[in-house]
Amino acid sequence: METIKREEVERYLERGRDFIDDALIERLLEENKQPDARAVREIIARALEIKTLEPAQTAALLQVQDDALWEEIFQAAAKIKTKVYDNRVVTFAPLYAANKCVNNCSYCGFRRENPAIQRRVLDFDAIREETRVLAGKLGHKRLIFVCGEHPESGADYIAESMRTIYSVKEKVRNGRGEIRRVNVNAAPMSVGDLIKIKDAGIGTFQVFQETYHHATYARVHPAGTVKSDFGWRLYALHRAMEAGIDDVAIGALFGLYDWKFEVMGMLFHARDLEKRFGIGPHTVSMPRIEPAANTPFCDHAPHRVSDRDFKRLIAVLRLSIPYAGMIITCRERPGFIRDVIPMCTQRDASSRIGVGAYTGQQQEQQQDIQQFILGDTRSLDEVIRELASLGYITSFCTAGYRCGRTGKNIMTLLRTGKEGCFCKLNAILTFQEWLEDFASRETREIGERIIAQEIAQVTERVPAYFTPELLEKMLEFHRRIKSGERDLCF
Ligand code: SAM
Ligand code: SF4
Repeated sequence: METIKREEVERYLERGRDFIDDALIERLLEENKQPDARAVREIIARALEIKTLEPAQTAALLQVQDDALWEEIFQAAAKIKTKVYDNRVVTFAPLYAANKCVNNCSYCGFRRENPAIQRRVLDFDAIREETRVLAGKLGHKRLIFVCGEHPESGADYIAESMRTIYSVKEKVRNGRGEIRRVNVNAAPMSVGDLIKIKDAGIGTFQVFQETYHHATYARVHPAGTVKSDFGWRLYALHRAMEAGIDDVAIGALFGLYDWKFEVMGMLFHARDLEKRFGIGPHTVSMPRIEPAANTPFCDHAPHRVSDRDFKRLIAVLRLSIPYAGMIITCRERPGFIRDVIPMCTQRDASSRIGVGAYTGQQQEQQQDIQQFILGDTRSLDEVIRELASLGYITSFCTAGYRCGRTGKNIMTLLRTGKEGCFCKLNAILTFQEWLEDFASRETREIGERIIAQEIAQVTERVPAYFTPELLEKMLEFHRRIKSGERDLCF
């Protein structure tokens, strides 16, 4: 398999082994059964200092049995989210560009041997058209570009697609629609290929390990496929760092194996990135397996995670990797998202996950072109209105990547809570832009109320490291955005 560059995995192994020691994880979970409440409260206190937890500490949280103690964990998780990210929620949408795939993952509608899927690789004109809808009609500023693993959708294709997306400028109500940040969820690549997508202006590179359990990984990714190589995938983000992409995202597909094991795997992943590069994952994702066309595996997922356990695992991840953003997706139903949003930092909205689905004439959900079935198909406007009614400001800020607040810089800002403040100002400005250009009347009304509250907060309780000049500049930018200028941020 020439895709895999063996030496780009082997240089990370220690005594021939990767950093997921299955037996150690099982042992930690066993040893930490029935943790006492005092120990759990000490762990909560450490997480509140925005310190990555030790594996034994995460194991202890995962083994809590007492419902009242779980309530304390949920409250701490929400507190950490607010401490690091304030009341902001970032939104984005996926752009599915290609569903041809050389792999045969048991759980995925796009798997090679699934005849029920119409295969398509969007050409650059079609990518442009999809982007015009996303940026010009729906008002998104961030995308996650998604594709299967196939020679037709390799690094050159992804890089050119990204350039195409960034080139789209749509005239909208009072300003312009454009995508300012393209994140990518694609197959693991070599360092050489990663440099190509870095040069095209990638935001975050996201690769989910699916499962950290070696034997389960081998079962769901048939031998002989590229994806069956556990190590090639496990070190995909290490290679990204080597290539200079210092903004990376981890995830596990929940339902393949025991959720407690997967949370431990994600923690070990974050810790290994921190150890080697001084930077952990920017975001953590926790997709749950959803039904997919002609994919019986999904209807009988061996370790389906209940809502109760899913909420618990989100909280434990929040505490274990406290600086990381956490993404909840439209795979989930609106009611459940409402329940966990206090612990999360990002969500998608108005998502379509069929290739060409934004421009196509498809119904809302069309099984034969999409990877799986969504739980929340509401529009971005509806989602923003709901978030605002719950007290959250939707941020369209993309400044982090464009002004160099990534990697080590951002880690320090996040751990000290200062990123939250820069981002607060940018959230106000970018949300105002969105209200001007895209909001319905109802959403605008409630959105303006949130903005007024936010401005009052920063001007009345000026944080120590905000200079008066900075605040004055923010107010000036805000006035200028209201009178039609765009893309003003810190
Ligand atoms: N093909 C690339 C890969 O596998 O890494 C990237 C794109 S893949 C379409 C994106 C992610 O979708 C996978 O990493 C997997 O976690 C998730 N996924 C696949 N099948 C799913 C299903 N039935 N339900 C929910 N998520 C699924
Ligand atoms: Fe292909 Fe990714 Fe689906 Fe696996 S999860 S079949 S690699 S698109």
